[in-house]
Amino acid sequence: MKKLSKSEASKEIEEFFSNLKSKTPKEIKKIKRLAANSNIRLGEKRKLFCKKCLMPYLGKEKTRINKGTKSVECENCGYVVRYKILKRKIKPS
Ligand SMILES: [Zn+2]
Repeated sequence: MKKLSKSEASKEIEEFFSNLKSKTPKEIKKIKRLAANSNIRLGEKRKLFCKKCLMPYLGKEKTRINKGTKSVECENCGYVVRYKILKRKIKPS
């Protein structure tokens, strides 16, 4: 694989995630490595696939929302990831 510049790598990552549902865990592993090598943070994009088995979430996984926490259970391996839901601040009028 040829060395990509940071902007090329970030473009590649954007394209990859715009079509994530057709990707395989192997491809996700590769794009994660590309991001790491290019110093690009995936940020919110990391929530789009299972961090255990790297399967992209297809919308069939179980999602639960409880007391400001969202939990998503991977359909493939059963791994549950939890994260806080940020409350939107209401501006005083
Ligand atoms: Zn999984």
